[in-house]
Amino acid sequence: MSKVSADRELCIQAGNCVMVASEVFDQDDDGIVVVLTEDVDGQPADHAREAVKLCPASALTLQG
Ligand code: SF4
Repeated sequence: MSKVSADRELCIQAGNCVMVASEVFDQDDDGIVVVLTEDVDGQPADHAREAVKLCPASALTLQG
């Protein structure tokens, strides 16, 4: 099991995370990332890992 976190202060509303991992991330009305599920495994974890790589603001982390 891996743990997802997002630094909403760093997020620049690019939306890449939602495009590659919509089961893990959403954006609020201002476009700032919202973590839907902190604990991920299997495919959601793979998607979250991809989102971490693609985030232009380095706002996302995946531990474990
Ligand atoms: S990819 Fe990064 S900058 Fe873009 S919405 Fe997600 S967390 Fe924010």
